Amino acid sequence: MYYNENTVIYLDGKFVKANEASTDLYSQTMHYGYGVFEGIRAYAVENGTQVFKAEEHYDRLKKSAELINIPFDYNVQGLIEVTYELLKRNNLTDAYVRPLVFCDPNMSLARPNNVSIMICAWEWGAYLGDKQLRLTVSSYCRPHPRSIKIEAKVCGHYVNSILATNEAKDKGFDEALLLDSDGYLAEGPGANLFFEKDDVLFTPQLGNILPGITRATVLELAEELGIKVEQGLFKPEALAAADSAFYCGTAAEVIGIESVDDKKFPKAWNETLGKKLKDAYSKRVRQPKAVQEQL
Ligand code: PMP
Repeated sequence: MYYNENTVIYLDGKFVKANEASTDLYSQTMHYGYGVFEGIRAYAVENGTQVFKAEEHYDRLKKSAELINIPFDYNVQGLIEVTYELLKRNNLTDAYVRPLVFCDPNMSLARPNNVSIMICAWEWGAYLGDKQLRLTVSSYCRPHPRSIKIEAKVCGHYVNSILATNEAKDKGFDEALLLDSDGYLAEGPGANLFFEKDDVLFTPQLGNILPGITRATVLELAEELGIKVEQGLFKPEALAAADSAFYCGTAAEVIGIESVDDKKFPKAWNETLGKKLKDAYSKRVRQPKAVQEQL
């Protein structure tokens, strides 16, 4: 599904066949989750393909590495060029791009001297599907920001996301909603949360969540559309009393939430601020960058 015999990936300065590429099983990342990654999307635009918010994603990859002391000697512009070349070599236009920075063999807990970078890409439909989601509040909370660097996209952090996702699915829901360790609304396993009440949008403030690039785009779009947004700490009761809600993330894009623990939101999705923003987001990702920057 992710690759076939013709797929090419980028690995440490070279384009190589995915099924011929190899790595060391003693990598510190494999054993301890000590590595960083990104999730990026490219979209078909007028004359080719365009990587959406490419700089923001590679800047975050660099920041994630720096936050956890993983050496990062790559040039952001260079990585963007590599990404376009990778898409070209794989004949991809609409695609999901996954860069991963992983560490050399090292069974100790000391920081590594050397790292590798791989970038792969594949066609991937909307991660959470297209229908509105039935969520459940997870029994897992997001990791405490004093335990890890919550604003970094670190491989090991995703054990928390995997546990929450599978718990939700095992209970018959589509997806989980995680609170922070103080019981405030945080985010989904791979997406940020917004909710609407009386024509105002609310979203958890930064601090206990991953600073989503889609979240930032939604905030930009809301401003352009004259939608008021409040960022803060909100209890689950605020969400329970909301008119509507949605998740957003690179993989999930903007997706409506139907219910939380079987309590349905009262507003019809087509009339929500989320639907307006979903339409605006779908349009924005396919606008040429020069046009995006003028808006
Ligand atoms: N929160 C978490 C935990 C995530 O994994 C993601 C996906 N990267 C997001 C939020 C959304 O971030 P972005 O919009 O940058 O994809």
